[in-house]
Amino acid sequence: MKYYSLNYNSQDISFLDAVRKGLAPDRGLYFPKKVPKLPKTFFNNINSISNQEIAFKVIQPYVGKDIPENRLKKIVEDTLNFEFPIVPISDSVATLELFQGPTLAFKDVGARFMARCLAYANINNKDEKLTVLVATSGDTGGAVADGFYKVKGVDVVILYPKGKVSEIQEKQLTTLGENITAIEVDGTFDDCQDMVKSAFIDQDLIQSMSLTSANSINIARWLSQMFYYFIAYKNRIHPNKKLAISVPSGNFGNICAGLVSQQMGLPIDQLIASTNINNTVPSYLNSGVYSPKKSKSTISNAMDVGDPSNFIRIQKLFNNDIFKLKKILKGYYYTDSQTKKAIKEIYKISGYTADPHGAVGYLGLKEFLKNSKEAYQGLFLETAHPIKFVDIVERTLKTSVEVPERIKHVLNREKSSIPIHSYEQLKSFLLKR
Ligand SMILES: *Cc1c(COP(=O)(O)O)cnc(C)c1O
Repeated sequence: MKYYSLNYNSQDISFLDAVRKGLAPDRGLYFPKKVPKLPKTFFNNINSISNQEIAFKVIQPYVGKDIPENRLKKIVEDTLNFEFPIVPISDSVATLELFQGPTLAFKDVGARFMARCLAYANINNKDEKLTVLVATSGDTGGAVADGFYKVKGVDVVILYPKGKVSEIQEKQLTTLGENITAIEVDGTFDDCQDMVKSAFIDQDLIQSMSLTSANSINIARWLSQMFYYFIAYKNRIHPNKKLAISVPSGNFGNICAGLVSQQMGLPIDQLIASTNINNTVPSYLNSGVYSPKKSKSTISNAMDVGDPSNFIRIQKLFNNDIFKLKKILKGYYYTDSQTKKAIKEIYKISGYTADPHGAVGYLGLKEFLKNSKEAYQGLFLETAHPIKFVDIVERTLKTSVEVPERIKHVLNREKSSIPIHSYEQLKSFLLKR
């Protein structure tokens, strides 16, 4: 499979080259030359296929000859070493838990897959060390740190805003050591992101090192998110009902993977983009006018994005035809107070503790189901464990959320970070190593 830039001003390149580069030289996002279809028999027999085998079949056409089949199978097996349970909330609504990975974030899947692809790419590129530079408002950093920990030939530098991530998130970022460095920026998440952007166009840095990013613009992170849509289809509770999936969305990488899955033949009847008040996409679906805005802060802060970077890929998937897109994709948005009410409602009807992002997904699903005449099985994605947003959840439900056993060890580790307050300091740190 070849990949082309959506700015149409760079050469087509293969899978691993696109993974190493991240963004094309013309600053465009990479996009596959075509979306392959999987055969009907695959979907008819999916119940008898293991999660790992499903994931291999899904991703193999996108990787092509770049990674030998046995190695790719191993990469997929290592990526998916945890489960994706479906938990019923009511008759027609269930949640797909995507937070069973090592850092309790759905981003574990993409980060683990991308790290392993890069590790393989480095076997053939021994001399060239790669530096992954990433800004985080919380969840991305932890997943990337864990996914890339001890991957040979890759150094990871994570920028996070001082005092603006939760205690667990900070520990996940700052305690691993080895090839992971945490930079504590005296500023906001936007300041972190601006510094990363400056680094990617800084000629002094470009000349002296290979820099790449690890956010969902990277095709390895983006495409591997398809795995759990296929696994969810296999495990769906009502196989005879139509399937609607609601995705709490920020940069729209996750839902874009759902839309690709659907175009590959996966029988998803409806996708729902659920957002907080950063509602650029729901408004576009309503008005036909795409107008990005500055992001506003909310309690579902991993979705505080005013100009979603992956939306251009969604438009490409539908050849910029909004009418085609609107048949499969609905969009709704919610305020913080609606989100808190939803956390309470979910708890009341089922005893389930949702995090603010999942709660936004629940609201979008409910609104879709209310407006539709047919019977659907609805799934909303739970993108983070409630412990990641423990203050909001505990204050809303007036109960305590238990720290899952598997991350307790993180809390006892020693923090180590490099404090900075300017881009110049970041640059000199990168050049000095
Ligand atoms: C990153 C994130 C999202 C948004 O995912 P996108 O792919 O950027 O749309 C939603 N919820 C949580 C908890 C996240 O960390």
